[in-house]
Amino acid sequence: MGRAFEYVILGGGVAAGYAALEFVRRNGGASSQELCIISDEHFAPYERPALSKGYLLPQDAPRLPAFHTCVGSKDELLTEEWYNEHGIVLVLGTRVISADVRQKTLLTSSGETISYKTLIVATGARAVKLEEFGVSGSDARNVCYLRNVEDADKLVGVMRSCPGGNAVVVGGGYIGMECAAALVTNNIKVTMVFPEKHCMGRLFTPKIAEFYESYYASRGVTFVKEAAVTSMQISAGKVTAVNLGNGRRLPADMVVVGVGARANTGLFDGQLVMENGGIKVNGRMQASDASVYAVGDVAAFPVKLFGGDVRRLEHVDCARRTARHAVAAMLEGTGSVGHIDYLPFFYSRVFSLSWQFYGDNAGEAVHFGDLAPPGDGDGAAPKFGAYWVRDGRVAGAFLEGGSRQEYEAVAAAVRRGAAVADVAELERRGLAFATQA
Ligand code: FAD
Repeated sequence: MGRAFEYVILGGGVAAGYAALEFVRRNGGASSQELCIISDEHFAPYERPALSKGYLLPQDAPRLPAFHTCVGSKDELLTEEWYNEHGIVLVLGTRVISADVRQKTLLTSSGETISYKTLIVATGARAVKLEEFGVSGSDARNVCYLRNVEDADKLVGVMRSCPGGNAVVVGGGYIGMECAAALVTNNIKVTMVFPEKHCMGRLFTPKIAEFYESYYASRGVTFVKEAAVTSMQISAGKVTAVNLGNGRRLPADMVVVGVGARANTGLFDGQLVMENGGIKVNGRMQASDASVYAVGDVAAFPVKLFGGDVRRLEHVDCARRTARHAVAAMLEGTGSVGHIDYLPFFYSRVFSLSWQFYGDNAGEAVHFGDLAPPGDGDGAAPKFGAYWVRDGRVAGAFLEGGSRQEYEAVAAAVRRGAAVADVAELERRGLAFATQA
């Protein structure tokens, strides 16, 4: 049993949706047997960030089809009908269990062999499980991860089953932070546990983290920092308490785990060159085998802005842009589409706060604006940020509470590597350094 396509997109997440739209824009649709998307999810591609934001709201929470791609960038809503109308075959609820790059075939869990001339790998990443740290209990009925709609539905169900109860959020990254905010908004008491000295340890400076931790504390969140979960007490299939390495025991009606993600590269181990935990591609998003492109979370690609350093970026904007670039390169043939020139960008929204980050958080951090914890300020919406200065130039910038123009201005300062002659002067000028350049 088998089918053959000119192009196959493996994975049906953010990158797949944006790749499909780019394909249709450039190709005017797909003819029969031209393009197929294979996904083990049961839904057409959707904007994954919605799962930790709108989806968890106590009221008026959006549900599919409202957040299919590409509404996240204010573009067309690609429903299943859209794919049908444009001749794109969606193979949903189907897992690819092996890939043969030399033969250009994929074997699915239903036993079908799907062959391609060109493959776009868009398999994204999966949540790291607590078991990888030697803690068992991930399959308990009230332990939640958050990567897909199924996970989000479980989280909502568990949350609703324990109104006013205690949640332990394991991990201080953006999944933990966004879930903690959503839980509190749903009237659940939250304790966040993580081993680092402060939240968002890979991005925030201690000063920035202090602001958000104080803000969260003012909303009732308790932080247990520099602590690791060592075991969970389980009774009748549910966790009742979480035990920490420092001897503390936290009562729990539910647990949300956000301890990182790993790229889904396994199908191509030993077949494609890997780097930084992803499939290594060139600036056209082409892997070590020229018939394969990789995009989104799974791709490790050269970032021109960082001198061609190969990076793997698990950000939605990166998935959208690398997907579009790969399709452009794939359809236009060798040489006509240049190498991607990507400005790394990441954002988060929690409570009424909203921040954006551009570039690299490397070098000396120079803060600006009012970082006073809530309650200490004048009650106005907070606005502050930081530049990272490396070799006399702005390498990265973070801004909380900016306007569109202000975000564009800090992004532009990073993009052009604005020269910094005097760090004290940069600190004094703050946001104006970017907006009045
Ligand atoms: P994904 O969107 O993960 O899609 C991969 C797809 O491939 C999935 O459908 C998966 O099921 C499928 N798949 C994998 N293996 C197989 C297989 N063998 N067979 C068939 N199908 C397979 N980024 C931001 O910048 N800002 C945010 O605020 C933000 N919030 C987020 C919130 C959540 C809850 C999550 C989980 C992520 C968030 N991200 C955010 C990250 C962002 O969503 C990802 O970077 C983006 O989804 C990556 O797109 P992708 O297409 O590479 O992978």
